Amino acid sequence: MRLGGEPESSNFEDRTGQRSSGLGGMGGGGSALGCLLPLVMSRFGLGGVVVLVIGYFLLSSLGGLGGSGGGLLPSNAPQSKAPAGQSTLDPNTRNFLVRVLGSTEQTWSEIFAKSGANYQPASMVVYTGGTQTACGFGQAAAGPFYCPNDGKVYLDPSFANELSQRFGAPGDAALAYVIAHEVGHHIQDLEGTLSKANQLQARASKTEGNAVQVQVELQADCYAGVWAANARDAQGSILEPGDVEEAMRAAEAVGDDTLQKQAQGYVVPDSFTHGSSAQRIAALQRGLKSGNPATCQSL
Ligand SMILES: [Zn+2]
Repeated sequence: MRLGGEPESSNFEDRTGQRSSGLGGMGGGGSALGCLLPLVMSRFGLGGVVVLVIGYFLLSSLGGLGGSGGGLLPSNAPQSKAPAGQSTLDPNTRNFLVRVLGSTEQTWSEIFAKSGANYQPASMVVYTGGTQTACGFGQAAAGPFYCPNDGKVYLDPSFANELSQRFGAPGDAALAYVIAHEVGHHIQDLEGTLSKANQLQARASKTEGNAVQVQVELQADCYAGVWAANARDAQGSILEPGDVEEAMRAAEAVGDDTLQKQAQGYVVPDSFTHGSSAQRIAALQRGLKSGNPATCQSL
């Protein structure tokens, strides 16, 4: 990706180096938080900290972080040499994140303006290990997530290594896709789609609720594609050869069937919460081809 021509986002909060503590996860109750990634948390439900249809698919089934699951990051990555309270964020990573976020702001502002609306951007919080959010205590083990209560995307920068090593999806465009997916949840929040999903899930069976969640996730993938299709600087599209493939590889790697096969050796379609690899690729592709959010299937 050619970054540099877009504005740096100012909606950026660096909490790396901060001490974090919290009891349990956002889902409460010990290891209940399990949606592998990228996930969105609900502002509704018990105590307002319930993950929107908690993925039953637990990291603990992979042996947990630092456990026996192969290819996981060491739990102390990235190495911190800074004194407590001081940022450990690599300047290049910071630069990348504020520019990708800035690009989503530019793109979505333009799209919203076409229908006479004003885009209220999401903020991004980078942290290491765990951090407090308006949706409860967020942990890096769950992957990047969006909290609608505070309108913030949360990301542990070591996720970039995980994406490349554990999920086999290296490259700047792979990480940008994940960020754009989380920003996609923010768009859904602004549109009221997250509230609607919650209402639907409140009166649905577990299987039906999962199907609603899959629709939400696939739309966020499609929105990521819409961003990529429209992301440009003065010279044109910021996508470079290979970027689309990188993003597709990431979308494939985080498909429910692929993750389940890796974790348990078999696939349970009823339990899908994010969509299969093929569905995720197709959704991302739809947004990329059209560049128009209206083509992204909604609930
Ligand atoms: Zn998601």
